[in-house]
Amino acid sequence: MIIAIDGTSGSGKSTIAKLLAKNFKFGFFSAGELYRAITVKALNLHISDSEDDKLKYIIENTNIQYSFNGVNNVMILDGIDITDKLHTEEVSNFVSKLSCKLFVREYVRKLQRETAKYNENIVMEGRDIGSVIFPDADFKIFVDCKIETRAKRRMADYIKLGENVKLENVIEDLKERDYRDMHREISPLVMPENSFLLDTSLNDVQTSLDLIYKEMIRRNLITMDFLNERGLKLLNPND
Ligand code: C5P
Repeated sequence: MIIAIDGTSGSGKSTIAKLLAKNFKFGFFSAGELYRAITVKALNLHISDSEDDKLKYIIENTNIQYSFNGVNNVMILDGIDITDKLHTEEVSNFVSKLSCKLFVREYVRKLQRETAKYNENIVMEGRDIGSVIFPDADFKIFVDCKIETRAKRRMADYIKLGENVKLENVIEDLKERDYRDMHREISPLVMPENSFLLDTSLNDVQTSLDLIYKEMIRRNLITMDFLNERGLKLLNPND
């Protein structure tokens, strides 16, 4: 089964996707983290977004090992663990300038398709999973949330990384990134047809998961037995 999770930046889709994969004992893949890994390499080598030849060269000569240990992903880039470099403000602000390029998307797409081949059941998270990469995914979720809530979550992430940022700047950066992701020519962020809309401004993580379980039961994708076998319970079974 492929579960495709798309949505806006900072909407909480990664948290939900990872927990869903962990609870269901599925594989997990975040396309964003692949785009971020390429961005880390470009920044390390001081390559700008206008230097396509250099970018193509580094992509062709990059070794990425990306794995999910059931709780978190580990990203090894050319033999070095860069997991804690993926979500810095610098990377977040640069990534969508590279992810709009066709050759960058083709590289990530290849890795996505290969990963799905080796995982019978997988949760894949990104911006174009349900619309372009796996339009036939068994279940598509679109996660969104009020911009102020998204910005506060991002601030908390930056503070954990020891970065000092202003809320107004984070709101502006998120708006800019959403705009770039939604208006780019190739694979813009859209809500795929037949997807389940999850608004995380209204719900905490457990409630969001509960809504997903209920919707999957309603669509006959899982059963109560499936949940019981994994020790999962519905919060309000009678709702
Ligand atoms: O999901 P996350 O915020 O980590 O994604 C980082 C960036 O990667 C996004 O802003 C977007 O530019 C790019 N991305 C994409 N397509 C995907 C997933 C992420 O273009 N499927």
